[in-house]
Amino acid sequence: MSDPRLLIDQALSDGAEIALDEAQTRHVGTVLRLEVGDGLRVFNANEGEWRAKVAAKSKRGMSVRVETQLRPPRAVPDLDLLFAPVKRHATDLIVEKATELGVRRLRPVITQRTIAETVRLDRLSAIAREAAEQTERFDAPEISEPVSLARALDGWDASRLLIYADEQGDETSAPWGGQRGRAPALLEILGRSKARLTPGERHAESVEARRDSAPPLALLIGPEGGFTIEERAMLRALVFVRPVSLGPRILRAETAVIAALSVIQAAWGDWR
Ligand code: SAH
Repeated sequence: MSDPRLLIDQALSDGAEIALDEAQTRHVGTVLRLEVGDGLRVFNANEGEWRAKVAAKSKRGMSVRVETQLRPPRAVPDLDLLFAPVKRHATDLIVEKATELGVRRLRPVITQRTIAETVRLDRLSAIAREAAEQTERFDAPEISEPVSLARALDGWDASRLLIYADEQGDETSAPWGGQRGRAPALLEILGRSKARLTPGERHAESVEARRDSAPPLALLIGPEGGFTIEERAMLRALVFVRPVSLGPRILRAETAVIAALSVIQAAWGDWR
């Protein structure tokens, strides 16, 4: 098994000795039981991933010595996830899976039917860091303070398409809004929006170039109870919003996050 990975906020360089904070000391010393001289990998978004060794371990704390660089940093695609916080376990799952699936920013939004207990940002950020360590990425996603949906949409940079997962049709009296007015499939929307790029970008040769040519994107998934009629009308009226269907079955919010992110990364992201 390869050496455990640890996300370090300080700068990494050849020979640097870095003191671990309390949570890191607990993780490395108590959970992983590493001793002086044991190897690990340290990483961050700026300096990439480095081989390191435990340099000191005592009651006062632990430190690691950075040795050589193993991999230069590489950014995840410019993809934001806007999600309505759900029950605690499901929110934790959303944060963990979105990190594994390469989301750059996590943006909790409060919608009319959001029933979230309070959003604990410290807890979510610890989950994101742990997932980043496990999943071989170089950064943990940024997690912003929860804001209302209206506030998140206000002042939106229109060059970032907002893919809005909308399971409903337009017929208010029919179950799930009937068939009329249903959003097109996610893949279809990704295909159409991509066609708007310049041919040079579309036919870029290298994987890197293709990934970097994908315009910035965001995904919006609603709460357990879905969006209200007013929210749906407001979202559909915005020029940068693309309503999409994730198929004929109603998914739980956390499943919708995982399914949609997988399709986006396969079609537009870095799964190549
Ligand atoms: N409206 C429902 C279910 C909401 S599911 C209810 O009242 O119970 C939670 C969120 O997942 C939705 O807001 C939507 O963003 C997304 N979602 C779930 N299934 C979907 C589907 N088949 N197509 C598009 N979005 C879906």
